[in-house]
Formats: sequence, C-alpha cells, structure tokens
Amino acid sequence: MIFWVDIVVAAPAHSTIAGPLTYHSEHLLELGQLVRVPLGKREVLGVVWALRTDSGELDPQQSKQVAGTLDGVPPLSATWRQLIAFTASYYQRALGEVALAALPPQLRELDTTQLARRLKRGKTATESAGSAPSPATLPELSPEQAQALKGWAGDHRPALLFGVTGSGKTEIYLRAAAQALEADPLAQVLVMVPEINLTPQLQSRFESRFAHLGAGQVVALHSGLTPAQRLKSWLLAHTGQARLVLGTRMAVLASLPALRLIVVDEEHDPSYKQQEGARYSARDLAVYRARLEGQALAQEGACRVLLGSATPSLESWQAALSGRYMRLDMASRIGAAAHDSGPEVRVIDMGHQPRHAVLAPPLLQAIAERVARGEQAMIFLNRRGYAPVLACHACGWKSQCAHCSAYRVFHKLDRTLRCHHCGFTERVPRGCPDCGNVDIAPLGRGTEKLEEHLAELLVDVKRPDGSPVRVARIDADSTRLKGTLQTQLAQVHAGEVDVLVGTQMVTKGHDFRHITLVAAVNPDSSLFSSDFRAPERLFSLLMQAAGRAGRDAAHSARSQMWVQTAHPGHPLFAALKRYDYPGFAAQELSERLAAGLPPFGYAALLRAEARTQELAQAFLEAVAKAGRQARLPGADRVTIYPAVPMALQRVANVERAQMLLECDSRPALQQFLTAWQAVLTELRRSAAFKPLIRWAIDVDPLAI
Ligand code: ADP
Ligand code: ZN
Ligand code: ZN
Repeated sequence: MIFWVDIVVAAPAHSTIAGPLTYHSEHLLELGQLVRVPLGKREVLGVVWALRTDSGELDPQQSKQVAGTLDGVPPLSATWRQLIAFTASYYQRALGEVALAALPPQLRELDTTQLARRLKRGKTATESAGSAPSPATLPELSPEQAQALKGWAGDHRPALLFGVTGSGKTEIYLRAAAQALEADPLAQVLVMVPEINLTPQLQSRFESRFAHLGAGQVVALHSGLTPAQRLKSWLLAHTGQARLVLGTRMAVLASLPALRLIVVDEEHDPSYKQQEGARYSARDLAVYRARLEGQALAQEGACRVLLGSATPSLESWQAALSGRYMRLDMASRIGAAAHDSGPEVRVIDMGHQPRHAVLAPPLLQAIAERVARGEQAMIFLNRRGYAPVLACHACGWKSQCAHCSAYRVFHKLDRTLRCHHCGFTERVPRGCPDCGNVDIAPLGRGTEKLEEHLAELLVDVKRPDGSPVRVARIDADSTRLKGTLQTQLAQVHAGEVDVLVGTQMVTKGHDFRHITLVAAVNPDSSLFSSDFRAPERLFSLLMQAAGRAGRDAAHSARSQMWVQTAHPGHPLFAALKRYDYPGFAAQELSERLAAGLPPFGYAALLRAEARTQELAQAFLEAVAKAGRQARLPGADRVTIYPAVPMALQRVANVERAQMLLECDSRPALQQFLTAWQAVLTELRRSAAFKPLIRWAIDVDPLAI
C-alpha cells in the first residue's frame, strides 16, 4: 500500500516551491508529523501538511519517497499549522520558509538516535516539583492591582494592561500566569519580552515565583541560546512538559499544545517586529494565536492574551478605545503617594543656553548635586561612538563610507572610523585623505565623547566619602563581549557608578534603585522625522527613561527627568510633563486619522535591492504597472505610491528602493498582495530584471 502526502519543506525565498510538495510513503503518516524527505540532492526536514485522497490519479514514478520519520517527536498540532499558514499568507512568504524557521535548527541535523537521547534527557529533567507558594508569602496586591485582576477575570477579550512604569505590571503577569496554570494541570503559558538580555530581572522573577514547578517546566526561548539549548526548550514546550515559556518574538511561533495564556510585556516595543524574512509582528500574532487556540477548543476565552505597556502602541490603544480590547488601568507607582506618576520633568530650552553647550549648565549642576549626595544619574543619547562624523575644515572632506550612503562614525578608543551599517572599518587617517590637512576634527557627539566630556566637567566633584566621580558607559560597543552587559549592570546596581552614559539601551527595564536624575541629551531629531511613528517612539522612550528615576520610594520626591530641546513648546513635551499618555495618544491619533495612517489605514512596503538605484526603482515601477494592468482583486482600493530611494539609500554597495502601498481595508490589501505576488515572481524572472538582487514585501511596516 502506498500513501500520498503533501509535505512542507524549507524553500529559498521566492523560489518556485511556494506550497507543499507531494511525496509517497509506505507507511500511513500523521498530519503534522516531522519527516525527512529527499529534495534535490539533499535530505531535508519536512512537516506533513496534508494527506492526499486523490491517490488513484498519482504515479509513484512522479514523486519521491519519504525517507524517514522523526519518531518520538509528537506531530505538530492543527492549530500550530493554521498559525503558520496564516503567518505565511498574511506576511506574503512561502509556507515552508515560515514553518521551518519556526522549528529549532538542530532538529534538521540530529539523527533518530541522537534525537531519542535528547527526548529522554528532557524527561528526567522535569520530575522534581514542589507545591505552589502559599498566598501568604506573595506580596499583597495594591488596590489598583486587585482591580486590574478583577477586570481580567471578568472578561474574555484581549486585555491591554495600561500601567505606568513601577505600577506593578509584572505582578499581574505572575498572577494571571499562576491562575492559568492552576486552572488546568496541563496548561501552558507563554510570556514574551522584547529582549531577554535587557530584562534579566523579569526572567528571574518568573523563575523564582514558579520555582515549585521544577526545572524543565520553566524554559526560555530566544536567539541567544545555543542550538542545543534551543532544541531542548523547544522539545519541552512541544511535548507539553514546559508549563511556562519565557521568550522573545520568535517564541510566538513555538509549538505549545496546551497554550492558555500569552503575555506580551512592553507590547509597544519595536523589537516585536521581525525585520527580515517573514516580517511578522509577534504582538499581532499573539492576539491572533490566542483567538485561534480558543477556536480550536471551541470555547471563547479558552486562551487569553494580555498586552502590557506604560505607553501602548497606538494600534493597541485604538483597539481598546474601540472596545475590541478591554483596558486595565494602573495609574500609580507602587509605594508612591497618590497622583505621583513619576519624577518631575524639566524641559530645557537649548536656545537659551551657551552656544555649542553639550549639557546645559543647570543640568550639569543638577548632576553634580546628585553625585555629591551619593545618588546616581543616567544620561542617554541615541548615538554610539565618539562622533558621528570626522571632517576636514580646510576642504570639506567627511568620513563618508565608501560602500554606504552614510558617514562612518569616529570611535576614539581604538581610533577607527566604523560604518554602523556595513561594518567597514579603517584606522583614522593621519591627515585629510583629500587635501592632507592634519587638522581633521570630530563633528557632533556620540556616547563615547559624552562620557569623556562628562568626566572632564565633573572632575572636581566629590562623592560623599571624598572620592572622585565615576562615569561609566553602556552601549552596543561597551557590551560587545559576552557577559559584559551583565557585569556593567551589576556595577550600576552595586553603586559603583555615579553617572551612567548610554544609548537607549539603558532606558529599558532595569530596576536601578539609586538613580534620581535621568536626562535625554538630544531627542530633537525624532520630532520632525519623516517617519510617522517617530513621535510615538520618542514619547515612549522618554516615558520609559523617566521611569528609571526614583524607583526607590525614598528618593522619589526629588527625582527628575531632564530633556534638552530646541523646541520646548512642542506638544509632545507638554504631554510628557503631565505623564499624559492618553492626551498624547489622542493628539497623534487625530493626526493619523486625518492622514489615513495606521491604525486607521493599512500599509505595506515593496522593497527592491540592486547594484543601481535605477534598476531597483524600475523593477518596482514595472511591478506596479503590471499590477494595475492585470486588474488584480482589491486593486481599486489600494493606492500605490511612486518608487523612491530608501532613507538609507545604499548599504554595502547595494542600492535600495521602496514603494508604499496604502489601503483603507485590511482584507482588500491582503487580497491584492496575494495576487500581486505572482506578478512579482514572474517579472523577477524576466531578462530585464535578472541582475536584481532581491525584493521583499513588508506588511504593516514599522517605519515608512
Ligand atoms: P512595572 O513592570 O509596572 O514597571 P514592576 O512590576 O517592576 O512594575 O513593579 C515595580 C516594583 O514594585 C517592583 O520592585 C515590584 O517588586 C514591586 N511590587 C509590585 N507589586 C507589588 C505589591 N503588590 N506590593 C509590594 N511591592 C510590589
Ligand atoms: Zn581636507
Ligand atoms: Zn558602510
């Protein structure tokens, strides 16, 4: 007897293999089963996607035979397969690419014996289990927390937990997770965070609260794991042994057969959007997945989703305003007096400060006072390196990257010019490469220069014990080596640092106890950016940064957040001073509504890369034209804008262009894009576009 099956395998992007391939087998296979199949000259991992019933018409000579099955690994569920199919179709990628990318890479490499050993090892790991912590040992809920949990229990809709920094959102996540786990002895909970390395405290709070579950039942799933660790976590999740999975965006596609709750912490964070391959939004997929899991159980609300943020994405906020999501509000910080939502915000008008001052004198004074009192200050600037450009004043030469439309950044420590886009690095030349002038100088400033500058300015300031001030820097450069970030953070926590300089990396979820002053040195570039989401991101960044100050109630009264700007009258700062996210959101949403931008309109980008800008743009224009001529479904509602160079036009000698599509209807845009794919693939194969390097569609892009 021969059985016919359709199997999904990894296919290169935009290859001719769009869907599953048909194979035959001598054994009856199960849907969702993992198998090895021949593909070309190789043997690859595949997932059984459909059992064919039209076998009478098929010819064994025309198809290959399944080489083997991964015994011991249970089949992937129908819900998981639906999630993958939705992701592939919504984000316009090949099914096989999405399915295989969601599986741990090591699954492709291990043979059956090795795999059996891994599975066995996983089993023994989960046996030690104690009992849940008694309610008496848990922190007593604040009235707002109790109210939020009541709201959560009384409604099945996706919930948006709108809680200021320090309001105790994590406790809500912990309780919601505990409830879900207690309600069903098999239930699984997925907790997603933007970047695990930046939120070690959250991870440890979950681990200690659920320590009674035993090792192997609380697992992490993120790209920082070794391939072996990742396989182990994935197998524990897939076999249902892991009850609680803590992960980054990739975890939203993990196999979790008994998923009952998905928590998305800092749901507004841009890192939930994948920026290559299938450009999915893990937050949006979390909401979709919870609904799907509920449908599979034929019970509304059987799988819940909880999104949390102090500054929600405008998409989620609008969904809450419209009633699609419920809102749970927590407006005050734990332990703080009523109406104390955060440190006092001071907006400094840089137009009234000495010209070329990096730090306004009153700010410098305030920092010095903190140091003298033994408190800490945190200064952030969104640019690493010493100076963004090195320039020659004699002839106008600038440290342009030879391969990108960007300047190379001057790093003083190792005296290099480094391109932050392609990595091209050279030693700083002795003199100007064009005119020989030896007097080439840095323009502007980065974190490295700010650190140096601060150390000079504060040289006479003494700490309470009379010792000199200690300035430290945390950014992608200072933390390049594995483990250095943790060491540096530990130093800040231990009080070994007085002034911390960094990029926005330092504003993320660290719970620094002794910081009483936070300053944003140069936030203006985001105010008038062409990217419509820039103000939203800036507001959220500043609110989050403000939340770093005065975490310790003892200091909260004299904590401050300073913002240096040339536009002190900007409404964004007015809202910031009041900690008025709803006010800021109302203003932004009215502008978005007027312009038909998300969340009121839907957008997609088509991008193309080629050796020349002309070719990249010509491809986009040709695709647009062919799309119009073909009268594709949905086309009458989709606006296609002209092709333009991307903001960063050239990277590593590759020219990049993009084309924006807008539509007032999500289904219409979906229909159109799906039909358009065929046009794209065909044009790509025509002789004129052979030299094109690649193209990609980005649905719901973050930046336009
Ligand atoms: P958020 O995530 O909303 O910024 P956290 O969850 O980090 O806030 O809580 C802020 C601080 O308050 C943490 O140190 C946490 O341990 C503490 N906390 C939270 N809930 C309570 C509570 N009910 N009682 C006492 N302390 C609490
Ligand atoms: Zn010169
Ligand atoms: Zn470069």
